[in-house]
Amino acid sequence: MKEKIVLPKAYDPEPVEEKWATFWIEEGVFTPRMPSPEKAFSMVLPPPNVTGSLHMGHALCFTLPDIIVRWKRMKGFNTLWLPGTDHASIAVHNVIEQSLEQKGLSREKLGREKFLETAWDWKKKYGGVIVNQLKRLGTSLDWTRERFTLDDGFQRAVIRVFVDLYEEGLIYRDYYLVNRCPHCGTVLSDIEIEHKELESKLYYIKYPVKNSEESIVVATTRPETMLGDSGMAVHPGDKRYAKYVGKKVILPLQNKEIPVIADEEVEMEFGTGAVKVTPAHDPVDFELGKRHHLEQVIVIDGFGKMTKEAGKDFEGLDRFECRKKVLSRLEKLGLIEKTENYQHAVGHCYRCKNIIEPYLSWQWFVKIKPLAEEAIRVVKDGKIEFIPPNWAKTYFEWMYNIHDWCISRQLWWGHRIPAWYCQDCDEIVVAQSPPNHCTKCRSQNLIQEEDVLDTWFSSALWPFATMGWPDETEDLKTFYPTDLMATGFDIIFFWVARMIMMGLKFAKNIPFRHVFINGLVRDFKRRKMSKSEGNSIDPLEMMEKYGTDALRFTLAALAIPGMDISLSEERMAGYRAFVNKIWNASRFVLMNLGDVNLNIKEEDLTLADRWIRSRLSKAIGDMDSSLDDYKFYEAADKIYHFVWHEFCDWYIELAKPSLEKGNQKSLAVLVDTLDQILKLLHPFMPYVTEEIWQHFPSSGKSLSLAPFPVADSCLIDKNSEATMKILQDAIVEVRTLKAENGIPLKKTINLLVKCSGREAGIVREYQIFFKTLANVQNLEILEEFPKEQKLLKGVSGLIEIAIPLEEGLVGLEKEKLRLEREITRIKIEIEKIEKRMGNKGFLDRAPRHIIEETKERLKELQSRKRKLNENLEHILLLI
Ligand SMILES: [Zn+2]
Ligand SMILES: [Zn+2]
Repeated sequence: MKEKIVLPKAYDPEPVEEKWATFWIEEGVFTPRMPSPEKAFSMVLPPPNVTGSLHMGHALCFTLPDIIVRWKRMKGFNTLWLPGTDHASIAVHNVIEQSLEQKGLSREKLGREKFLETAWDWKKKYGGVIVNQLKRLGTSLDWTRERFTLDDGFQRAVIRVFVDLYEEGLIYRDYYLVNRCPHCGTVLSDIEIEHKELESKLYYIKYPVKNSEESIVVATTRPETMLGDSGMAVHPGDKRYAKYVGKKVILPLQNKEIPVIADEEVEMEFGTGAVKVTPAHDPVDFELGKRHHLEQVIVIDGFGKMTKEAGKDFEGLDRFECRKKVLSRLEKLGLIEKTENYQHAVGHCYRCKNIIEPYLSWQWFVKIKPLAEEAIRVVKDGKIEFIPPNWAKTYFEWMYNIHDWCISRQLWWGHRIPAWYCQDCDEIVVAQSPPNHCTKCRSQNLIQEEDVLDTWFSSALWPFATMGWPDETEDLKTFYPTDLMATGFDIIFFWVARMIMMGLKFAKNIPFRHVFINGLVRDFKRRKMSKSEGNSIDPLEMMEKYGTDALRFTLAALAIPGMDISLSEERMAGYRAFVNKIWNASRFVLMNLGDVNLNIKEEDLTLADRWIRSRLSKAIGDMDSSLDDYKFYEAADKIYHFVWHEFCDWYIELAKPSLEKGNQKSLAVLVDTLDQILKLLHPFMPYVTEEIWQHFPSSGKSLSLAPFPVADSCLIDKNSEATMKILQDAIVEVRTLKAENGIPLKKTINLLVKCSGREAGIVREYQIFFKTLANVQNLEILEEFPKEQKLLKGVSGLIEIAIPLEEGLVGLEKEKLRLEREITRIKIEIEKIEKRMGNKGFLDRAPRHIIEETKERLKELQSRKRKLNENLEHILLLI
């Protein structure tokens, strides 16, 4: 006899998770075989920011693809899931500049070189935080291939792409009005701006007409910009102002003459129909100014401070301070005609939430339309598929209206633009390595561009640069294009679209075949999770409390394509109980595992054996088709139901009595079913399944590498399923009858069964099931129930059942009193609630969700009262 295998009594996730997370990595379980005859399946991890810490959005976005890649790996694919982190320019600048500020320093004081040293030190120290959290989450990433968007290989790839695009004329430099965040101190691209409706004011300001007593009134929300006005514009068809076109007005506070021009773009309906023109501080005015050759006067600098051009009274003021001062001056001069309340959309920085300032400066741009064409086509042709498919519409809408992409950022941490300015002529030299001299005048007096590239410029290269591009590597040959990109909808433009454009252009192929867009994680009331609202759930805390497997299973079970996830801690507690259930079932099976032959002998199979094998085969088939369609919730639901309700509740219970007696005929099926369950569950719950499976005599190196079960249609046994269904329904009816009449399930009863033909045969043959699962002592099959006996009756299909009321079986009097007391209690509560709901004051003042909850509670109580009354009537009949 082999020694019995005993699992500890309770499952303790933490040490188990630590053990296997380390083992998988140390043993290279997730490193693909190279070369391999097997078909490849690959993904790249959306690189989290190096400053990041795991939040619930991450946990979802990483768990779902991990389920897919684990499933594919077990199905025999040669899989690669490639990890890494993003250097996140703005986020790192924020972190480091904040700590410099605390020391009374600034990045300017420190200088570029020292600043970058500090940033790299910071990365070495803290950059691993998110990496360790990813490992803890059980993600099956190949860490031997870990990349960083600022590592040497990436620098080479980025410079190569920049130079190639520049040489093709797809990157250019221009003096242009861009969005700048005065707080972050850098420009941003259009899509990094969040537009929010703000309550503000519209000021009507008088501009005196030169050599006249008249004045023209213009309306503006940003009076401080008037210091930079260089014209006034009206519509050419606007009769009110026709006589002023070509004349001059006096710009108040600056005492400067500016021309009145006519332009088709001016909206006659806005404000007074006349508008001030500030080419350096407004995108519409910028274009207008260009058409009419108006001066571009910069009065606000890149940090939101007024410049010298604003005049000595305003120079150095913050933009909003300046607004107040401008208004009070105008007021004193009697130049404000009126002020109106005004609601309009204002751009905010997506990182720091400060108001964006239009900013005129030299910047670098990608001419995007030529790249977008091909990227639209591959989605149109179905080469890249969005899941759910409606996201393709969002993608097209944006791609058809795409604007050139401003890629320069006034930051240091990032890919410094490989452009050098000749100090002796006007040449710009763009090159892969620092040039020795100017290509035009051969001067050696060259200075490199200070700006770095938008972080999204480098992450756009992620799928192929991580695999060694521009070299022709084995990884690229084997794993590019990748199969799946799973990410959030909020970065379809930032990232997904750009990866498609860059992948097609440089790696000569689509970067991925499927784009799976996961929903947002919301709280159980479907509100957005936020730290300030106090309703966010920390995944690390949840892993600590319920174990990683429970967290992962919860996220999968809630992931319905196209829908947001509504998360609650109760759900996680529920799946933690599921983990325990699996643990306890496995413990029972393994305890019985002696020196037994585990070959399944057809002739030994019982009804329950044939039934569970049939159900298992069905579950395997379902699992495959659900995962094929990325229906995580469906796969989770099916395996949950199979394990808990079929395997644990029925099959194990039926196997128990014979195992306890030492009859081990069913043991082979029991062990085999459990083995396959662990494999089915492994992609969802990698830790607990690996831990149990390693106790199996037949285990291998890792469950992660074990073959995924294959659905076997030969095992589908319709007859056994039908027979079991009849028995299960009848047994459930007996249990319900007991429960409804206050008979404990454990209490032994006698049972009368009225049925004939096939049903009678089945009940007779499997009487033992009634004993095992409903504690039936004697079971008697009859054609008619005896009339003289008091009976508790129930029906299940063609089978009628009855429990004879014997002395002491039901304490009817006691039960009657209990029910009466309970009904009275509920009546009182219902009256209270009805009174509250009838109170107008309550309805007017209480928050909507409270009213909803109260209504729900009332419904619940009423239905409970009905049920209790029915039970009471039933008992009164029997007394
Ligand atoms: Zn900002
Ligand atoms: Zn030169």
